[in-house]
Amino acid sequence: MTRTLKGRIVTPAGVVDGSLLIAPDGRIAAIEGRHLPAERVREPGAPLLLPGFIDLHVHGAGGRDIMEGGDAALQVARRHAQHGTTALLATTMTAPIEDLRTSLAPVGELCRSGAAGAARVLGIHLEGPYINAAKLGAQPPYARPVSLDELKELHELAPVRLLTLAPEVPGNMEAIPLLTAAGFRVQIGHTSGTYEQGVQALEQGALGFTHLFNAMTPLQHRMPGMVGAALAHAQYAEVIPDLLHVHPGAIRAALRSIPCLYCVTDSTAATGMPDGEYRLGRQAVTKCLGGVRLADGTLAGSTLTMDRALRNLVDVVGVELQDAARRVSTFAAEFLGLADRGRLAPGAWADVVVLDRDLRVQEVFVEGGSIDVPHAR
Ligand SMILES: [Zn+2]
Repeated sequence: MTRTLKGRIVTPAGVVDGSLLIAPDGRIAAIEGRHLPAERVREPGAPLLLPGFIDLHVHGAGGRDIMEGGDAALQVARRHAQHGTTALLATTMTAPIEDLRTSLAPVGELCRSGAAGAARVLGIHLEGPYINAAKLGAQPPYARPVSLDELKELHELAPVRLLTLAPEVPGNMEAIPLLTAAGFRVQIGHTSGTYEQGVQALEQGALGFTHLFNAMTPLQHRMPGMVGAALAHAQYAEVIPDLLHVHPGAIRAALRSIPCLYCVTDSTAATGMPDGEYRLGRQAVTKCLGGVRLADGTLAGSTLTMDRALRNLVDVVGVELQDAARRVSTFAAEFLGLADRGRLAPGAWADVVVLDRDLRVQEVFVEGGSIDVPHAR
């Protein structure tokens, strides 16, 4: 049976006031209607249809942490789906190999089988362990140089779609071309590297930067650091728009510099939970006033969801809605090389988030299947 959604549909070719038809196979059959000028997109009474959000950096939600293994990834994907995320990368912490095995094995199963009522888990973002022990941020002290053998073993358990590494760690720079030749996407992060090392890593095949500005050398005018390398040369970078990790002005600066800057949540188990104590991998963290921190005050991931990321981008940073929609969905899909997600167009998966005028989630569809959204009832 074909399902029809009506509203103002944000497509790659502009906003269409009309209908989006979902075919029985879960793909978009057609989009019909008339084009609207940008200033008429957010009007009262008309629901907004955006491409479902794609979050490439997710540690947890609802009290569950990807590092737990078991059904944690499924529960995390369910919780984020209620906030409009239709596809995500389950993201690991720097950890001993046995912890990574525990975490990855069930994610591999979930990637193969899929699960109704949850965001599609596209694979793994390995955040570390190949990072700089001097720039751990909230990562525990299990940093080590790249091991291609270890990586291949992990990749057999679950598809590693993205890995974060620090290029200045001995051996890592030379590993980047080997990793990219083996099909891994490399992102620069948790790094004390210089501007020059950042540029070299991009030349070697690195594709982006992990949570731009956080856990990397800052830009100083005579020592431009990793942030300088990103602003001067990157096509893609992640940013966490929870307004705690990065000042809105820094996001605006990055938006003028990095064409495909895209949003991630870096969300932890504390997402959607009351203030209190939670686990982040092997560490204890505290949620208070919307922030998640280690005992020494270091920010330890976020409690952000992608619907709030969109609202912050539009309402606080001042990004126009159609551009913001690309930065919470389309660019992440393009970064992963996915042509059939991150856009509302015939033939693409019907991954759709329906929002009201205030950009609150009303309905969510993953591959055409409806998600239960308790807070919209
Ligand atoms: Zn993270």
